[in-house]
Amino acid sequence: MTQALLINDLPTDLFIGGQWKASASRQRIDVIDPSTEAVIAQVADATLEDARAAVDAAAAAAPGWAATAPRQRSEILRRCFELITRDSDQIARLISQENGKALSDAKGEVAYAAEFFRWFAEEAVRINGDVSRAPSGQANILVQYAPIGIALLVTPWNFPAAMATRKIAPALAAGCTCILKPATETPLTAYLIGKLLAEAGVPDGVVNILTTRSAGKLCNEILDDPRVRKLSFTGSTEVGRILLRKAADSVINCSMELGGNAPFLVFDDADIDVAIEGAMLAKMRNGGEACTAANRFYVQRGIAEAFSARLAERMGQLRVGDGVDPHTQCGPMVNAAAVEKIASLVDDACTKGARIIAGGNQPDRQGYFYNPTVLADVPPDADLLSEEIFGPVAPIVVFDTDDQAVALANATEYGLMAYVFTRDLARGLRISDRLESGMIGLNRGIVSDPAAPFGGVKQSGLGREGAHHGMLEFLEAKYISVNW
Ligand code: NAP
Repeated sequence: MTQALLINDLPTDLFIGGQWKASASRQRIDVIDPSTEAVIAQVADATLEDARAAVDAAAAAAPGWAATAPRQRSEILRRCFELITRDSDQIARLISQENGKALSDAKGEVAYAAEFFRWFAEEAVRINGDVSRAPSGQANILVQYAPIGIALLVTPWNFPAAMATRKIAPALAAGCTCILKPATETPLTAYLIGKLLAEAGVPDGVVNILTTRSAGKLCNEILDDPRVRKLSFTGSTEVGRILLRKAADSVINCSMELGGNAPFLVFDDADIDVAIEGAMLAKMRNGGEACTAANRFYVQRGIAEAFSARLAERMGQLRVGDGVDPHTQCGPMVNAAAVEKIASLVDDACTKGARIIAGGNQPDRQGYFYNPTVLADVPPDADLLSEEIFGPVAPIVVFDTDDQAVALANATEYGLMAYVFTRDLARGLRISDRLESGMIGLNRGIVSDPAAPFGGVKQSGLGREGAHHGMLEFLEAKYISVNW
C-alpha cells in the first residue's frame, strides 16, 4: 500500500518543453517491480510525433541555454545536486522498486548520480580555450569551445539515475540541450529526476524525457533531424553498433559506453582479505548487473584454493530478498529473461565441466531471483567467460604465470574494466600497462568516480564520461587563425 502511494505521486507522462504530456497515442507501458512481478505504474509510450515535439522543444531552448552565463549554469547544476541529495531516500527506494537492486546499492547509486551535478557545476565555469603562436610565426591560433548542439541521450536500466545524470550534467554544463530516452524497464527514476531538475531551475526545453516501447524507431526519428548533433549512448555493444550505423547517416558525434567482460586477476602474493572484499564489491554491486562487474576470476594456482573457498563462503552467506527490504544484500534481476540467461550460462559451464561451490540455482519464491553462485574448474570454452553474465555468478579459472594471466584477460572483444590484486605495486602496474582495458582497479573492487574518466577500449566503447573529458564530449572546438 505504501509502495502504491509513493508511485502514485510520481510523474509518468512525457516531459517535453517543461510540460508533462500524455503521448500522442495515449498508450501506456507497464512498469514492473522485479521483486514481486507486480505492475507498479504505467508510463506514457511516446510516438514519433512526440519525438519531433521534443526536438522542437530542445531546439527552441538551445540558443538561450548556450547564451546563459557559465556561472548561472553552474549554479543551476549545483542546485540539481542539492535537490537530488535532499530527496535521495525517495529516489533510492524508487530505484529499488523498478530495478530490484538492494536498497543499499540504490543509495550508493543516488549519491553517485548526484555527484555528477556537483562535479559538472564546477566544470561549467572551466571551459577554457587556448591561444598559441603558429610554428611558422605567421598567425595566432585561437581555440574556443562551443556547445556541440542538441544531444540524444540513451540510457540502460542497470543504473537508472547515474547513467542519466552522467550524461545530462556534462551536456548542460557545456551549454547543450538534450532529449533523454531512458530504458523501458526503469522509466520512473528518469521522470523523478526530470521533476527535480525543473525545480532546480533548469529552463523549459533544456532537458526533455521520452519513454517508448519503440526505442529504435524513436531514436531514428530524432537522429534524422539535422538539428541533433550528438548521440550519447550507454547500453549493450549490440545496440551500440546499430546506433553507430544510424549515426553515420548524418555523421553525428557519438559517445558510446558499451558492454564489458571484466577480468579479475588475483596473484599469489595478493592480500587475500583485500582480494575477497574487492571481489564481493566488483561482483556483487547491483547483484552483478553492472558493466564493470567482474565477469571472469583468474586466480594464480598458489592462492586459488583458499580464494575459491572464501569467496564461496561469502557469496553463500548473502541475504537474497526484495530490493526495498533494508536487510537485502542481493535483490532480484531486472526481468525473467535475465534470470533465464544466467541459468543457461551456468548450465552450459556445468555441462562442460565446471563445479558449483555456492548457489547455482533459483530460490523458490516470486520475483526474478538467482542465488549468488561460485563456479570452480571453469573450462575455457564455457560461454560465460566470453559473454556478459550480468548476474551474481563468479566463475573461477586457475592460471600459473603473469603472461598467462594477461593473455587470458585480454582474450575478449571487450575492454571496459579489469581488476588486479597483488601486494607488489610494481608488478600490479606492469600488469596494468599490459591489460587492454579503459579502467583498472588495482587492489580495489570499485573505481567509479565523477572526477575520473570512465570508459572502455575495443568494443566497450568510444569516449569518456566524468572528469573534464566528460564535458569535452559535448563541446566542439572552433579554431580561429588570426593576427593582431
Ligand atoms: P540495451 O538493451 O542496449 O538498451 C540500452 C538502451 O538502448 C535502452 O534505453 C533501450 O531501450 C535502448 N535501445 C534498445 N534498442 C535500441 C535501438 N535499436 N535503438 C535505439 N535505442 C535502443 O542495454 P540494457 O540491457 O538496457 O543495459 C545493459 C547493457 O548496458 C550491458 O551490456 C552493460 O554492460 C551496458 N552498460 C554499459 C555501461 C558503460 O558505462 N559502459 C554502463 C551501464 C551499462 P529499451 O529499454 O526500450 O529497450
